[in-house]
Amino acid sequence: MKTALLIDEDRVVRESLTSWLRQAGLAVLEAADGETGRALALAHQPDLILCDQLAPRCNGFQLCRFLRGLPEPPSRAMFVLTTSGGYGVDRQGAVEAGADEYLVKPILEHDLARLLEIFRGHGSATLAALPRPAKKSPGPSAPDAGGAIPSGPALVRFWGVRGSLPTPGPSTVHYGGNTSCVEVRADGQLIILDAGTGIRGLGLKLAAEFKGVPLAMTLLISHTHWDHIQGLPFFDAAYNPANKLRILGYEGAQAGLHSVLSSQMESPYFPVGFQQLPGHITIEELKDAVFFIGPVEVKTIFLNHPGVCVGYRLNTSSGAIAYLPDNEPYQRYKFHTGQPEVASTAEFLRYGRRMDERLADFIRGVEVLILDSQYDLNEYQTRVGWGHGCVDDAVALAAQANVKRLFLFHHDPSHDDEKITQMAQWGRSFVATLNESLQVDAAREGLEVVLQPSPK
Ligand SMILES: [Zn+2]
Ligand SMILES: [Zn+2]
Repeated sequence: MKTALLIDEDRVVRESLTSWLRQAGLAVLEAADGETGRALALAHQPDLILCDQLAPRCNGFQLCRFLRGLPEPPSRAMFVLTTSGGYGVDRQGAVEAGADEYLVKPILEHDLARLLEIFRGHGSATLAALPRPAKKSPGPSAPDAGGAIPSGPALVRFWGVRGSLPTPGPSTVHYGGNTSCVEVRADGQLIILDAGTGIRGLGLKLAAEFKGVPLAMTLLISHTHWDHIQGLPFFDAAYNPANKLRILGYEGAQAGLHSVLSSQMESPYFPVGFQQLPGHITIEELKDAVFFIGPVEVKTIFLNHPGVCVGYRLNTSSGAIAYLPDNEPYQRYKFHTGQPEVASTAEFLRYGRRMDERLADFIRGVEVLILDSQYDLNEYQTRVGWGHGCVDDAVALAAQANVKRLFLFHHDPSHDDEKITQMAQWGRSFVATLNESLQVDAAREGLEVVLQPSPK
């Protein structure tokens, strides 16, 4: 009897797939995370592996690369990457990781039947397998960072609020043209969210404020698209040998975090190599969905965006802050990408709603939500599948999750100050119509938000 291994955090997905696979005569092993899946693959050498691209603790790309790098079984099991997103770039990532097939969820019964045909040698796989050697990733350690930051009410300061590309100029002076970077000071910790071009201003501010006093900082990377990392080589604090900078993030679709961050500093792109930065810099790849930076609890969630992109929730003693810089809400995306049959469309919408509810649970009750609202509703219609959301969905999600303050974030490079102001006003009128108390603002460079500690 052939064996299939199913790796997916989502129990509902596992249940339906397991039942279909068993009906097809396969023995089925199940795992809710990639690490457990890897152990099962090594112990049982399954013939077919279906693994979610964003499986926790070891994503599908990582697991596929690992297995393909083994000298013996299960290195040649048929490997199928499954995904909630289905972005073109991820299909390419699947090919590069060495996967045989790529299935977009919700997986319908006829999708699985077609897959099993290929598995049994009838029909040919749609992805070419290109085996790659496995990459070693260092294990996570409990992050802690402390330093010269006093305890007190948590502070959020925006240094870069633009998506995709820096856009300096007279039409963006109010909201700013720098790409993603947000500073959080809470419970004695200095936490930086992403290293877009805005991080340059943060570095200059830290140098002026602390005047050589050694700093310990934690930089959380959401993902490694240019607009979230391109400021790092210009971060002044990384050039001070007395400073400690811990960079935390998840391995991406194509390569490890370290190689992505350092390759943007290789010649001929940049004159100083990553290894030459004088600051004490460590890069750690995260596996756990929950960890601590000093006393600040950090929770993570994978977002709907090409590649591997995570959102962070920081639970501080003065309230929670959630940072979801790039995200395309599933419901609307699935509505546009559903199949032209009533039953399939209904299944797509049910699945999308369930995924969005997970996100709502993740941000529930936060004081501050920083959320991708790159487009207005009309613009979104022509940008479905680009990995970003619209202001209407951002407001609806925040209201549904009882968020106190929503900051529209990741402004489109084509939006001038007037347009962003209009979008924030639109969001506020939408809130009024919903009869909610949510406060909506557009994030702008230099804006500071102080969280008041909740009464004990
Ligand atoms: Zn982005
Ligand atoms: Zn991105």
